[in-house]
Amino acid sequence: MPDQTPARRGDGQVARPAGADRAPVKPQRPSLLPAPLQGFGITFSTMFKKVTTEEYPEVAKVTKPRYHGRHVLNRHPDGLEKCVGCELCAWACPADAIYVEGGDNTDEQRFSPGERYGRVYQINYLRCIFCGLCIEACPTRSLTMSNDFELADDNRQDLIFTKEQLMAPLLPGMEQPPHPMRLGDDADYYAPRPARPAAPALDAPPAAGATPVGGRA
Ligand code: SF4
Ligand code: SF4
Repeated sequence: MPDQTPARRGDGQVARPAGADRAPVKPQRPSLLPAPLQGFGITFSTMFKKVTTEEYPEVAKVTKPRYHGRHVLNRHPDGLEKCVGCELCAWACPADAIYVEGGDNTDEQRFSPGERYGRVYQINYLRCIFCGLCIEACPTRSLTMSNDFELADDNRQDLIFTKEQLMAPLLPGMEQPPHPMRLGDDADYYAPRPARPAAPALDAPPAAGATPVGGRA
């Protein structure tokens, strides 16, 4: 049996339990309505609230523009793959959901500009938590996330997506690899993207006609 003797302070006084000096909780004022009417009151007030039921799957749900959905492996404008098989996405993944094996490009068999390409690429959607760390880690912007969230299936194997399932489709003007680099030298493939405009300082006065930062007047 545990010792249930009240704790004593140094002066011999019995220590009060923690919280004993808190203000007592006020009892709630009893309603003037009988209990059945109180209960049905909640029912009636709920009946007139806006309904939030979604008609999915008959009506497709529209996600936010930056929703983290199924991944996509992107291509260059000539169809070559942006993935260079570096495995940085796999190392960044906290759920160990990505498996990559790099392969060497040759002049006869070229899948991406540069030396290597992603020969094997898999994402295990049984593990993925859609955190987006992998796309942050990708140095070529090969890996991005789409808004597609319909990933349910009835067996585990089909939720391990292969490179063929993840590759972006060929758009007009693209050619299925392997093929030579059609855009010229490397600079055309990895040209720096235009810099984003600098964010205005919070204490700077807004430019004429601009929306004030944080909505302040
Ligand atoms: S979204 Fe997160 S959990 Fe999913 S593969 Fe990328 S890093 Fe891993
Ligand atoms: S998707 Fe990006 S990070 Fe992952 S292996 Fe390919 S290039 Fe590297």
